[in-house]
Amino acid sequence: MAAVILDGKAAAKEIREQVAAEAGKLKAAGRPVRLVAVLVGQDEAATWYANMQARRCESVGIEYQLLEMHEDTSQDALLARLGELNAEPGVSAVILQMPLPGHIDAAIVQKAIDPAKDAEGVHPENMGRLFTGTGRVAPCTPMAAMELLRRGCPDLSGKETVVVGRSTIVGKPIAMMLEHVDVSATVTVCHSRTKDLAFHTRRAEVLVAATGLSQTRWDRYCRRKAAGEPVEPPDLSPLIRPEMVAEGATVIDVATNYIPRGFDEHGEPLKGDDGEILTKTVGDVDFEPVAAKAGAITPVPGGVGPVTVAMLLRNAVSCAQGAE
Ligand code: NAP
Repeated sequence: MAAVILDGKAAAKEIREQVAAEAGKLKAAGRPVRLVAVLVGQDEAATWYANMQARRCESVGIEYQLLEMHEDTSQDALLARLGELNAEPGVSAVILQMPLPGHIDAAIVQKAIDPAKDAEGVHPENMGRLFTGTGRVAPCTPMAAMELLRRGCPDLSGKETVVVGRSTIVGKPIAMMLEHVDVSATVTVCHSRTKDLAFHTRRAEVLVAATGLSQTRWDRYCRRKAAGEPVEPPDLSPLIRPEMVAEGATVIDVATNYIPRGFDEHGEPLKGDDGEILTKTVGDVDFEPVAAKAGAITPVPGGVGPVTVAMLLRNAVSCAQGAE
């Protein structure tokens, strides 16, 4: 069987069209959607992400403001600025760009964003609402995984579903969404202490992989190498191999790993002519052989990632609608 490829770019485009229609209605009613992104410091990846958000917002008629703060900004000053944004009626939603400088406690400042303006849906109050099924916004990546899952498997009721990964912002919310009465999947959550992962994944009609294990191993290798420790090349092979997947299963790969393409005979990562390490972007799943067996599967890149950004836009609109 060749799996249906769940195209995240196409899904994201559809979601952006829906979001644009909703944002247009709000604007016509004199309540334009305005998303403010707070960036502390000059992290390259965070800046790139902010620029991408700006383009996406513009394309759907959401006003986007990037509020850049110096990397020496104190936690108190950041909290004060967030307080001002909370109080500003013209600001519909706020996002805090990660990573924050080391002297700022991300968990504390994240909680300072008004839950009604929480574009990422990660405020504890919104997480609690996710638990009770009463939320207006939810974490973007779990929403994206669910969106693609519904496209691959429209009737999830009673389905044997295995989520690999239990982090607070990815694995756990996905499991919670799958358990909601309106979805009613039967959910098993696996993690690093799970005794026999393949036993669980093999019986899954729906499999969600969200570990980023290869990235974790590569990052650990880099840290140890930088510290001058003797290190062997890490095992960066995919966690989810074809023999771990049931015929016809729907497979959602949430992970994004930026890892080397390979290692040379000396155990060094392969490098290009410019001396830079040759990298590739992969998920947790061994895509080609699993796609030959699965019923539907998300690619990496081009799967959950693009839909996650579209969900941020949807959350921003939901925040604005909530303020009506
Ligand atoms: P995380 O906080 O590091 O959590 C990883 C989870 O994987 C943990 O629950 C861990 O178990 C589990 N795990 C690790 N090794 C395992 C193994 N061998 N077998 C089974 N489970 C194992 O990572 P995260 O923030 O949830 O992110 C997960 C992945 O999603 C990453 O690749 C990340 O880049 C990706 N992500 C993608 C998007 C997107 O837009 N596509 C957005 C956010 C995150 P323990 O709890 O026991 O440690």
